[in-house]
Amino acid sequence: MRRRIAVVGAGPAGLTFARVLHRHDHPVTVLERDAAPDARPPGGTLDLQEKLGQRALDKAGLLAEFRALSRPEGQAMRILDTDGTVLRDWRPGPDDQAHPEIDRRQLRDLLLGPLDVQWGRAVKEVVPGARDGVLIHFADGRQETFDLVIGADGAWSRVRPALSPATPHYTGVTAVETSLDDVDARHPDLARLVGDGSVAVYGVNRAFVVQRNSGGHVKVYAQFRAPLDWHANLDLADAEAVRSSLLALFDGWTAPVLELLHYGSVFVHRPLYVLPVGHTWTHVPGVTLLGDAAHLMPPLGAGANLAMIEGAELAECIATGPADLDAAMRAFEERMWARAGGWAKITTDGLERLVSPDPAEALALFDGVQPS
Ligand SMILES: Cc1cc2nc3c(=O)[nH]c(=O)nc-3n(C[C@H](O)[C@H](O)[C@H](O)COP(=O)(O)OP(=O)(O)OC[C@H]3O[C@@H](n4cnc5c(N)ncnc54)[C@H](O)[C@@H]3O)c2cc1C
Repeated sequence: MRRRIAVVGAGPAGLTFARVLHRHDHPVTVLERDAAPDARPPGGTLDLQEKLGQRALDKAGLLAEFRALSRPEGQAMRILDTDGTVLRDWRPGPDDQAHPEIDRRQLRDLLLGPLDVQWGRAVKEVVPGARDGVLIHFADGRQETFDLVIGADGAWSRVRPALSPATPHYTGVTAVETSLDDVDARHPDLARLVGDGSVAVYGVNRAFVVQRNSGGHVKVYAQFRAPLDWHANLDLADAEAVRSSLLALFDGWTAPVLELLHYGSVFVHRPLYVLPVGHTWTHVPGVTLLGDAAHLMPPLGAGANLAMIEGAELAECIATGPADLDAAMRAFEERMWARAGGWAKITTDGLERLVSPDPAEALALFDGVQPS
């Protein structure tokens, strides 16, 4: 008899899990809080690593379609000093597929494909060990029971409390995101500076990262160390007030940085939260976590990749129909914790060095990871 499986969350983790199960003709219920795929802006660009995100897409049978959509040239990276001096200008080789970029919306649509997601189904609580399996309470008062519930519901997971008391804590770094459209036509100088990929500028306890997305869209992330209540006297809904406050924070930086802030229209406040490095829990039959719900870490190129490979591996594990599913789930969790724990350490140390009192640390980090 087929198990009744629900995955909570239609982000990279949940969709990859569901898509790989679908490939194996295994039914799965996808429960998503958002009312529709485009209920929220989908976010910026993601780089998918060969051995993580791309391997997951391969398991879903979607690697060729990814290759057609993704931007290998988006791997290009330029680093400037705060006075505008170009310190590094790295470009990928013609066949470099190490971590091409893809817009989140494109990735989501690729994964969605034939999946029948239940939109507008916000989960409130998950109760394992109920009479007929794992009970899901929904925000609208309904409830439903499954044999297996997978929490892929991100940083503020409603599934996680069934397994672990951990909650995310603030890293001390905040990002404010803005974006520009149609840069090649409207701001050709800035477009040339951003090039095909990313530009980063590192100063004392501040960083500025700009990333090209497809279609001439550019995302800008102003990052700085600040207490969580840094905006106590600022109305975050007032774009002009946020702009002025950022211009003051980045005062004296190279002109393109200030111009990007001038041209940005909407500002999104993103304090960076993380779960403890090495977060684990005591295994509970019938429930597990994937992705940010399990191991929220600084956004340094690993989170979506891990979410996807975990989703793909767990789905394969279930689809092969192990005689002892619970033992297989335990083994999966052990593997996930080991891999994610390593990345949580790397990205936590990375954030310390990228937004640090000594900008030379950021450059040294880049030199350490970037192939010459
Ligand atoms: C600015 C930025 C840039 C990043 N760049 C990269 C990158 O280049 N590479 C990379 O690997 N990672 C990157 N990351 C990290 C990456 O975005 C996350 O790690 C990844 O999205 C995690 O996927 P997920 O599926 O676990 O969670 P999410 O993407 O958060 O998806 C969770 C889903 O669950 C839904 N949900 C939440 N609560 C409920 C509920 N109660 N009931 C039902 N549904 C619910 C949400 O609506 C959402 O659709 C970046 C992050 C940020 C902020």
